[in-house]
Amino acid sequence: MGWKSLDDMDLSGKRVLVRVDINVPVENGRVTDTTRIERIVPTIHDILEKGGKPMLIAHFGRPKGKVSLDLSLAQVLPALQSALDRKVRLIETLEGAEHLTQEAAEADVLLLENIRFHPGETANDPEFAQRLAALGDVFCNDAFSAAHRAHASTAGIAALMPSCAGRLMQAELSALEAALSKPERPVGAVVGGAKVSTKIALLENLVNRLDVLVIGGGMANTFLGALGADMGASLKEEDFYDTACDILAQADKAGCRVILPADGLVAREFAAGAAHEVIALNADTTLDADQMVLDAGPASIDTLRTAFKELKTLIWNGPMGAFEIAPFDTATVAAAKLAAERTQSGALISVAGGGDTVAALNQAGVAEDFTYISTAGGAFLEWMEGKTLPGVAALEGASG
Ligand code: AMP
Repeated sequence: MGWKSLDDMDLSGKRVLVRVDINVPVENGRVTDTTRIERIVPTIHDILEKGGKPMLIAHFGRPKGKVSLDLSLAQVLPALQSALDRKVRLIETLEGAEHLTQEAAEADVLLLENIRFHPGETANDPEFAQRLAALGDVFCNDAFSAAHRAHASTAGIAALMPSCAGRLMQAELSALEAALSKPERPVGAVVGGAKVSTKIALLENLVNRLDVLVIGGGMANTFLGALGADMGASLKEEDFYDTACDILAQADKAGCRVILPADGLVAREFAAGAAHEVIALNADTTLDADQMVLDAGPASIDTLRTAFKELKTLIWNGPMGAFEIAPFDTATVAAAKLAAERTQSGALISVAGGGDTVAALNQAGVAEDFTYISTAGGAFLEWMEGKTLPGVAALEGASG
């Protein structure tokens, strides 16, 4: 934990540049999900309470270094003001930030217009980072979800001024360090989702760190196919059978137990309410050419119940089946509830994140019951892959 938090910084009378991720979904000019905005509120409040003046730096969409009015942060301003319960002033240009008007200087909170309007941002141009750094006295990075990018406002700037993690970044890093760097053992993971090909690095890293790895979803079909099963029309990647075998061999060598589904819900069409049957799954399974496994079955859920009882720490990424179409959400929902119950009883530390995972846990109604749910997609996955995140590394090597 080589980074500093807001508690380590003297902010009285200081201009604090705060990198936030408020890249929220907007429809017809209105924010449809304010989760990311709500999560930065504690940081801004703490900075104000410590006598600092926050200037928020954020991106919105992918303007590719050009000013594009439909990607203006003006759309996010009303939701931001209401979450902070304060007036926020949008500063449209860097020149405007360098020469603040009287009115802007008096505002509680400033928001710099979409930082990706400037080509120097994604290029991590040192001169651009220097220009940004000159706008403040302290840098506070609260955008864990952008920390896998080496951009000027996420990485470059931290080397140029006293820097610290904001409250959300601090919570993300603490939760992930507790889950993966020095977990309470035994530690396990549920890794589900569509494809092995997108999660090879992640699986390779996890088998060397975990005691138990549960593989679910379409990925499990690829593993079962690799072991010799004929998976019919199931989602699977035959080109990755060798990779799946390698991962199983690595797990074996590292002493990580891999749990594949012992049975599945099998249908002949990918549709909500499709007729289905429970079929045992193993290396000898032979499905009809039009049959597909869309979810794990009841015996698999029983295995998970037993496995979870042994675990002290659980990491979760990806659904156990095609959870968007009932009843093929059954295993995902059941497993999520089991993990939530163990967490609530104090027996388990549970950390979830990445892509569809948050949606799946919301669907199970247990998002509040996990120890920590990461709002970061790509950054969470890269962390699980064991990669160094440039935004975090920059905080660790920051100047003060
Ligand atoms: P990912 O983005 O890799 O986490 O994959 C999530 C997607 O995988 C979701 O849209 C699920 O519907 C899909 N999925 C999971 N299991 C299956 C399965 N057995 N058959 C088809 N799709 C699946």
